[in-house]
Amino acid sequence: MAPTGSMLFAAVGDVGARFAINKAQQQGASACIRGHVKSRMLKIKIENLSKIYRSRSGHVSALEDVNLDIVQNEFITLVGPSGCGKSTLLKIIGALIRPSRGTLHYDGKTLLQPTRDVGIVFQEPVLLPWRTALDNVLLPAEILGLDIAASRPRAMELLKLVGLKGFESSYPRELSGGMQQRVALSRALIHDPSVLLMDEPFAALDAMTREELGFELLRIWDTHKKTVIFVTHNIVEAILLADRVVAMSPRPGRIAKIVKVDLPRPRTLDMEFTPEFKGYSDEIRSVIYHGGTVAA
Ligand code: ADP
Ligand code: MG
Repeated sequence: MAPTGSMLFAAVGDVGARFAINKAQQQGASACIRGHVKSRMLKIKIENLSKIYRSRSGHVSALEDVNLDIVQNEFITLVGPSGCGKSTLLKIIGALIRPSRGTLHYDGKTLLQPTRDVGIVFQEPVLLPWRTALDNVLLPAEILGLDIAASRPRAMELLKLVGLKGFESSYPRELSGGMQQRVALSRALIHDPSVLLMDEPFAALDAMTREELGFELLRIWDTHKKTVIFVTHNIVEAILLADRVVAMSPRPGRIAKIVKVDLPRPRTLDMEFTPEFKGYSDEIRSVIYHGGTVAA
């Protein structure tokens, strides 16, 4: 899929942001213990959400009656077959598109416009080819009018965090697909959002790079305290990363089941071969392909 101007706009930013970050709630995040969210501080509340795409050729009911509560610092994966409405739901959560029905609350307030409290990573890195890695990471800071002198060391630090120390001056064409996606991740974090939305961010990468980036993402999530909503159609990836897997069924997209993953953290690849993991995977597979009931 070719990057478009609107995708770039969405990827780099949340221009027009009106939403103030609630400092008190940010501090409260420390009450959440990784992997086991003890405090139930609600970050995002999705209520009775439906989305119908209308066009001259007809209507598509993409989402129907979606309800989901996400607590601060939780790692949620959305999994389901192609066309089940995962991207639609993520775009609604990022306020990039409006639902046909239902409401979206952030920190207890209705969200109607994109907020700077969110960073977004898409399947394609959508980097500007004429800017270096560092300048690509700094782009949202420029768009949001942040202090560039102050943002520069942060951008350097983020590139180091994702393993790109020494590549700050490289252009996208000089970087592999995995490295470009690392730049995109740094760019999504430059303005220190508390929510990270990721739409199949590793789907275009080879299996090894994908696994490696998955674990790096977990490390970043663990140290930097973000609420992550990560879309994938890969059930193994969905389980390995998540506190809870939201399994969706298609036409119209609905939440078929919410599966709480009680595997210990840090997660490791060999967990995939445990009976617990197989139990989660069988459960998710059966609801996605054969329907199921909603369970919190
Ligand atoms: P997923 O990300 O799970 O593959 P999407 O959210 O992209 O699913 O799409 C869900 C459904 O909505 C699909 O049937 C898709 O064809 C339809 N759809 C998505 N975007 C649009 C759009 N802009 N206009 C019309 N239909 C759309
Ligand atoms: Mg999609």
